[in-house]
Amino acid sequence: MGGNVARSTGDRGEPRRELVMLVRSLRHYLQSRANVGLEWVPWERAGAMAPRQETLAEIRADLGECTRCRLHATRRHIVYGEGSPSARVVIVGEGPGEDEDVQGRPFVGAAGRLLEAMIAAAGWRRDELYICNVIKCRPPRNRDPQEDEIDTCGPFLKRQIRAIRPRAILAVGNVAARFLLDSGAPISGLRGRVHDFEGIPVVPTYHPAYLLRNPVQKRRAWQDIELLLQVVGGKSGG
Ligand code: URA
Repeated sequence: MGGNVARSTGDRGEPRRELVMLVRSLRHYLQSRANVGLEWVPWERAGAMAPRQETLAEIRADLGECTRCRLHATRRHIVYGEGSPSARVVIVGEGPGEDEDVQGRPFVGAAGRLLEAMIAAAGWRRDELYICNVIKCRPPRNRDPQEDEIDTCGPFLKRQIRAIRPRAILAVGNVAARFLLDSGAPISGLRGRVHDFEGIPVVPTYHPAYLLRNPVQKRRAWQDIELLLQVVGGKSGG
């Protein structure tokens, strides 16, 4: 985990899904007005037709016992993500490794322990953040996720982020940063700056598994955490 992968091309099905939801709620609204003999739409009700924001639990229910891609055949557990639904910071990794697959929880192995040390150094508790991955099932032998697996699973991550609307996202490693920023650039070229995902600031940094192999880069990773702290207005925010 934490290596190079082909970049994602985004979630092409998602705009269509949102459009279908919008048309459905508009049809339902117009029908209910027509049923009581009203053929006009008051302007002030326009906002009421916007689709309601879904919750993390609803997204998890939609994911179900997912068989949408080949990874379901070899996984032990889906690793959906965990933490506070009102987290100010969402941390996004690549995908579960062996320990995560066994426990069904993100970042619980060696890389997770380093990530927790970084979180603690920033002054946070793990459970006040939200931690998740681009893909929810472990690839066999921890190989890099394939593009179609990212395309299938990635939209669930985007929905999780929209449900939480954090103040900032920490994208750890190539896969998370490239997916969220729709970029083919390596993490070394993306880190050190604040990017944007749907209006939410994104701070890319090295994956903790990479830092375990290259501890000399921990200094740069810490600079990224300091940047993240600046973006969210310190450890408890303003
Ligand atoms: N690496 C990741 O990218 N995510 C995890 O959950 C664990 C290791």
